[in-house]
Amino acid sequence: MTRAAAREAAAVAALDRRGRPLRDLRISVIDRCNFRCAYCMPREVFGADYPFMLAPERLSFDQIVRIARVFASLGVEKLRLTGGEPLMRKHIDQLVARLAELRQPDGTPLDLTLTTNGVLLARQARGLADAGLSRVTVSMDALSPEVFARMTDTAFTPDQVLRGIDAAADAGLGTIHINMVVRAGVNEDQIVPMARRFRHSGHVLRFIEYMDVGATNGWRRDEVIASAEVLARVHVEFPIEPVEEPAMGRVARRWRYLDGAGEIGVISSVTEAFCGGCTRLRLGPDGRLYTCLFGTQGHDLRPALHDEHDDTGLTDSIGRIWRARHDNYSEQRASGQPMIRESRVEMSFIGG
Ligand code: SAM
Ligand code: SF4
Ligand code: SF4
Repeated sequence: MTRAAAREAAAVAALDRRGRPLRDLRISVIDRCNFRCAYCMPREVFGADYPFMLAPERLSFDQIVRIARVFASLGVEKLRLTGGEPLMRKHIDQLVARLAELRQPDGTPLDLTLTTNGVLLARQARGLADAGLSRVTVSMDALSPEVFARMTDTAFTPDQVLRGIDAAADAGLGTIHINMVVRAGVNEDQIVPMARRFRHSGHVLRFIEYMDVGATNGWRRDEVIASAEVLARVHVEFPIEPVEEPAMGRVARRWRYLDGAGEIGVISSVTEAFCGGCTRLRLGPDGRLYTCLFGTQGHDLRPALHDEHDDTGLTDSIGRIWRARHDNYSEQRASGQPMIRESRVEMSFIGG
């Protein structure tokens, strides 16, 4: 069998129950964060006595690399490191260097990216780029210091994030995506200023609908500003048009400025569910695998890691979990089905 045929066979073997191929793995390397974004880690819940994982309880770099290697053999093309705040994990550049060596069955390197709140990026961007990181996504919810503080509940400033973005660009970690969660009445006045700031920058600003992830953020539907509304507000100031692209694996819808100032994107998980193209699994820092952002229990991969010399058990477990997958949470929410939130895993645990 040629390499391409072997890869095709692996992909076909790994269709889930809704016919979706396995393509992306998100790896959450830590459940801690130096921000307390109210929409993700409200301080009342994630306070000083919150039982975060201790370092020895987390998957080791050896275990993460081993799991990622098996995923690559099963057709995964993209790895994204996330958290919590992934840059708080010690020696994260060493993990990046090892993941950068992994190959798809046809020999192609994996697309290796990382999502961060950006404040530790100025110090780490160069090392991450040298280690082999392909690109970086930086979350930034406001330019105004007051609004930024209200969204993130931290003493860090937007300037620190902007310095991180500049450092990432200087290090060659582009195209940089800037993710902005939009919350009605909290940072909606930042939509146009953020658009203005990142026009002509070469970075792609992406507006994210506020989601009902986890069980602690007290999400209310009336705090969501639909992407259509966000686009309309941008369009008034800076006219835009859609960019066409294939559906499978797509999360953001892309738009471009008519005057050539670049692109923006919208991630509309509330008003326009994209479960049909969801080709993603999420690995928690504890070794549990989640088939949906809105999952509850996850599947523990640690037992399959016991035999250090044989990946067969691990490969079988992952393949079984994927083939049994039938999640379409956002579609269910959109169709008005009642949703239970209590036992849902937190976004700060499994990453965005
Ligand atoms: N700490 C890193 C960061 O903020 O980029 C990585 C982890 S964070 C959980 C990943 C992404 O999830 C961020 O872009 C964040 O804005 C997004 N996010 C967290 N809670 C969200 C929510 N309730 N709705 C929409 N996006 C959310
Ligand atoms: Fe931390 Fe990211 Fe969650 Fe904000 S969104 S609290 S930066 S994990
Ligand atoms: Fe994927 Fe679940 Fe989100 Fe649907 S709700 S797009 S299945 S993570």
